[in-house]
Amino acid sequence: MATQKKRVVVVGGGIAGMAAARTLVERIGDAAEVTVVTKDPFYMAGPSRPLLLTGEQSYDRITRGYEEAAASGIRIVYGNVTRIDPGERRVYYTESPTRSYTSTTQSSLDYDYLILAPGVVYDGSSIEGYREHWHRTASVYEPGRVDVLRSRIWSQNKGTVVVYAPPMPYRCAPAPTETALIIDAVLRHRGVRNSFSIVHVDANQKTQPPVIADIVKNIYDEAGIELITGRKITEIDDKSVVLEDGERIEYTILALLEPNRAPRFIAEAGLGQDWIEVKTPEKPRTPSYDDILAAGDAAKLPFPKNQEIAYESALYAANTIIEELGGEPASVQYAFLGWVYMGNLQGRLETLSIQFGLNFTTKPPKASKDATPKRDYTLQKDRWEQSYLNRLFHPK
Ligand SMILES: Cc1cc2nc3c(=O)[nH]c(=O)nc-3n(C[C@H](O)[C@H](O)[C@H](O)COP(=O)(O)OP(=O)(O)OC[C@H]3O[C@@H](n4cnc5c(N)ncnc54)[C@H](O)[C@@H]3O)c2cc1C
Repeated sequence: MATQKKRVVVVGGGIAGMAAARTLVERIGDAAEVTVVTKDPFYMAGPSRPLLLTGEQSYDRITRGYEEAAASGIRIVYGNVTRIDPGERRVYYTESPTRSYTSTTQSSLDYDYLILAPGVVYDGSSIEGYREHWHRTASVYEPGRVDVLRSRIWSQNKGTVVVYAPPMPYRCAPAPTETALIIDAVLRHRGVRNSFSIVHVDANQKTQPPVIADIVKNIYDEAGIELITGRKITEIDDKSVVLEDGERIEYTILALLEPNRAPRFIAEAGLGQDWIEVKTPEKPRTPSYDDILAAGDAAKLPFPKNQEIAYESALYAANTIIEELGGEPASVQYAFLGWVYMGNLQGRLETLSIQFGLNFTTKPPKASKDATPKRDYTLQKDRWEQSYLNRLFHPK
């Protein structure tokens, strides 16, 4: 019987990849063999990484291994996917640098269905000087780099902090704003805020997401954070950034998020230039190959790139296969509630947050928001993040 099972390969063991894999195993485990190929033997959640700057979050709380997922019936392969051959229905990967459990040098997986969920690449190549000066930038987006940012904001005593948001789409729209406001709080806490300027340069016309841009502007005015919108950073050197109109801003700390895109193997397989093209958000098959589906941040969807949308798109991708194989699809719709860290203007290392929501089941999408920063929203966000990790990986 096992040989008759359809082979579903999922690229990327993140929120979208694991949501798709779990849904498939739970609903059509007898009809499909589900393999997740992912590059690291652990997953670290994104949403609360900014709180590593204040010490309110720690790596151990947001990190999970794949052992329990494997025990539940998902085949896990550690490998770095480098190429897809849609004609041959094959995924190629290089060996994981840290873990192996076969004596062969298997480096490809054949599939009947492929779900692509590799997340994003932070690509600074369009910024002049990035190759030489990348190490001067830091951001809350990646482990390691967030530690660099943390040590810089906790050790330096005066200067200018420049925070940069690239053109949309990029993952987690409000994270640059969160970065600016949390840095503001840390500098206040240290008693050095008056010796620093904080400048948020945003390539977009408003801070993202636009639905809360008015709230952010008010809090920035109160915090004394300067906001420059509608201009890209096109060049960096050892002490300054240059905007597209030639304005030069000197920095001492640079929290720069690079433009985002899907990994290169997507474009090389003809599946989309920057993002994976899909037919519709609800049936996210690629236009050229019905057996390839996309989910999560790497998919080209008309929605923000965030954890809720990643999860929901994964359920839609899984449902497309489940329906085809005669199973019961999971209930899902495109709608989310989110929380945005707003720092703490009193300089306490107790981050306050606002809440907003977008419901894409109505046209136009229905927005909701509460403009008052609250401590409870920060705690809600923590519970929400933990619930995803507990369900997709294992409880802690
Ligand atoms: C700092 C930060 C703050 C955020 N804040 C929020 C928030 O407040 N609210 C919210 O909803 N969302 C937030 N997000 C966004 C959220 O984390 C992402 O939208 C979500 O993780 C996307 O899921 P994904 O599965 O597409 O990508 P990921 O979760 O990134 O998973 C991709 C997986 O693919 C693997 N992979 C990548 N390339 C390869 C390859 N070549 N071969 C094999 N494996 C590969 C990666 O290692 C990873 O495990 C935040 C993200 C960050 C980083």
